[in-house]
Amino acid sequence: MEIRIRGVSKFYYSDGKTIKALDDVNLTIPSNKIFTLLGPSGSGKTTLLRCIVGLETPDVGEISIGDEVVWSKDKGISVPPEKRGLGMVFQTYAIWPHMNVFDNVAYPLQVRNLPKDEIRLRVAETLRFVQMEGFERRPATKLSGGQQQRVALARALVAAPKVILFDEPLSNLDAKLREETRKELRAFLGKLEITAVYVTHDRVEALALSDSIAVMRAGQIVEIGTPQKIYFDADHRFVADFIGRANLVKATVRAEEGGNTVVDSGLGRIVCQHRDIPVGSEATLCIRPEFIRIVKGEAPAAGNLVNGRIESLVFVGEAYEVEIGVGDEHLLARIDPDAKLIEGDSVSFTLAPEHCLLVAI
Ligand code: ADP
Ligand code: MG
Repeated sequence: MEIRIRGVSKFYYSDGKTIKALDDVNLTIPSNKIFTLLGPSGSGKTTLLRCIVGLETPDVGEISIGDEVVWSKDKGISVPPEKRGLGMVFQTYAIWPHMNVFDNVAYPLQVRNLPKDEIRLRVAETLRFVQMEGFERRPATKLSGGQQQRVALARALVAAPKVILFDEPLSNLDAKLREETRKELRAFLGKLEITAVYVTHDRVEALALSDSIAVMRAGQIVEIGTPQKIYFDADHRFVADFIGRANLVKATVRAEEGGNTVVDSGLGRIVCQHRDIPVGSEATLCIRPEFIRIVKGEAPAAGNLVNGRIESLVFVGEAYEVEIGVGDEHLLARIDPDAKLIEGDSVSFTLAPEHCLLVAI
């Protein structure tokens, strides 16, 4: 089910100050996809999610889920959370520790007063779906972190919601389990006709899990796109910087040439991916460390060729992370562990124009 958010703002008042937690948010969350709200802590992700769910009341604007307006200031509509047909998985207290698995999952059906037989059937079905059948009588405290997450997912899904919302559900798991659970979650959600709204501050999680990502800052949506678009082709410096490690170099647009935009920068003249930025404007050149290619032997004919000096090397297993000095600029690069370079070496590297991204300052 599509979710439409129109002109939603939310203010908090604390210690005599006004905090704009949401600042005129306009957003359409598409049906049956995994849509992620990504942003630093305090950017308004949880507030937006809670406004959709109905646990928080916006100050202005309108929110619709499917064809139904669930909240509108102007129309005086406010549908209570339990009538919005949503399932939710929270960061903390994912499941209730004093109940067993069956009771945890059955709870949303029990409060709806469904017949006992139907509850049993639907709980069994949902536990089978999250691969937790046979665990019904297990106390919640006797489950591993990953199993608890599956039970939390089952509880959110058992009432067959059209929308499921997650607020940083994996942040309490250790790194390895987080990765496994993320894959599992993607697989589970892929099998359902369901709209998923996922909140995280973890860029890798957002990239790995989402069909679409909205990047938030200070209560506003900065940019929306597929993980690939956000990572490789962001329009905003903040987004390019937040979504992955990036070298950001000041640049001035000099020309349009053969479908590329050419800039002068601290790295010299660089041919970049095309951008509609007027000649003479300032911009930021964004280069990801993994796209810096050290030249061994003959320099290739294509691509920007830059000369620099190795300033430091750190072995991180699958690669060396090196800092390359070019004039006053210091670039982080990832290079082959067998590159046989040492500190102080002069190096040449190439930058393909398609990996030289210009973003607004
Ligand atoms: P996120 O989930 O992205 O970390 P939040 O939505 O929790 O961000 O918070 C957005 C802003 O609103 C923050 O500045 C936060 O301090 C503030 N905020 C959130 N909840 C409250 C509250 N109940 N009272 C006062 N300020 C709040
Ligand atoms: Mg939050």
